[in-house]
Amino acid sequence: MAPTEPALIDPFARPINYLRVSVTDRCDLRCVYCMAEDMTFLPKADILSLEELDRLCSAFVDLGVRKLRLTGGEPLVRKNIMWLIRRLGRHLDTGALDELTLTSNGTQLARYADELADAGVRRINVSLDTLDPEKFKAITRWGDLDQVLNGIAAARKAGLAIKINTVALRGVNDDEIDRLINWCGECEFDLTFIEVMPMGEIGEQRLDQYLPLSMVRSNLSERWTLTESDHSTGGPARYFDLAETGQRLGFITPLTHNFCESCNRVRLTCTGTLFMCLGQDDAADLRAPLRASDDDALLTAAIHEAIGRKPKGHDFVIDRRHNAPAVGRHMSVTGG
Ligand code: SAM
Ligand code: SF4
Repeated sequence: MAPTEPALIDPFARPINYLRVSVTDRCDLRCVYCMAEDMTFLPKADILSLEELDRLCSAFVDLGVRKLRLTGGEPLVRKNIMWLIRRLGRHLDTGALDELTLTSNGTQLARYADELADAGVRRINVSLDTLDPEKFKAITRWGDLDQVLNGIAAARKAGLAIKINTVALRGVNDDEIDRLINWCGECEFDLTFIEVMPMGEIGEQRLDQYLPLSMVRSNLSERWTLTESDHSTGGPARYFDLAETGQRLGFITPLTHNFCESCNRVRLTCTGTLFMCLGQDDAADLRAPLRASDDDALLTAAIHEAIGRKPKGHDFVIDRRHNAPAVGRHMSVTGG
């Protein structure tokens, strides 16, 4: 189906065709780089209903968005989330949407994998920073690695393609990089390493966690055959083909390599706030125009106005002089 409205093009001529939606700020884990232990979550009254999220996402699809990624917090802990996923699946059926996908911590996948596949989800990203149960518990503050591995196994059995996302953490999982690559190779999962980004107060020193991926990559190339791949999601990752495993390896390097020139995405929170850039504070409230009328005219105008002020890029930096968050909100608000 052709979009009924003019496509979304930002001031730097970048087409915006990818929407990431944080459907909840809540999570059943507390990863140390993502959240503080004693997080205060949003009051339920501030959160958009699933019907409202459907309407908002569908307005973006009408404006030419071809890819939707649900994230969080943990998207699969939101009550009745399958209702929303099935509803959004109608845009896959009409051909308006190319992909409906999720980023998940995997804890609930054993329960949902079959339903996700049935609703039209073909690929998911699962975040996993270690294969060591003790380290997993320490990183997530209380998580059970087996629960996640069972979830991943269920997703694989349901036929979902899986990409593992691993945040590179100095002194924590830097000794596990080869093990993760081998494991992903055996399971036929793609793997992407992510640099820690300075988002939200976490009560821990980011500088201590930060492991530049430029170092990881040059170190890896001593043992693995990495060939630069032309694969692109229009996003921040640079991809390589790994000859030894046949899998793809990605690096998301917001700090050592700025990726903004090809940015095709915007991010919506569960309160209807649209962030035009992950690394900037400017945002647009879409909840007010959404609730002001049953007609989408106000909402569509607000979306166009917001895209019209998408900034050129972020200014993330982590060093001794900049050891405070670049943006005050946590990653769980916009979902990464
Ligand atoms: N709960 C889901 C999960 O963990 O996949 C979805 C939300 S989580 C915020 C999305 C991704 O952001 C995860 O891969 C997580 O590791 C990553 N992330 C969270 N905080 C981060 C930070 N400060 N820097 C870099 N990546 C971060
Ligand atoms: Fe939860 Fe994902 Fe943040 Fe970990 S990274 S605390 S799983 S939202």
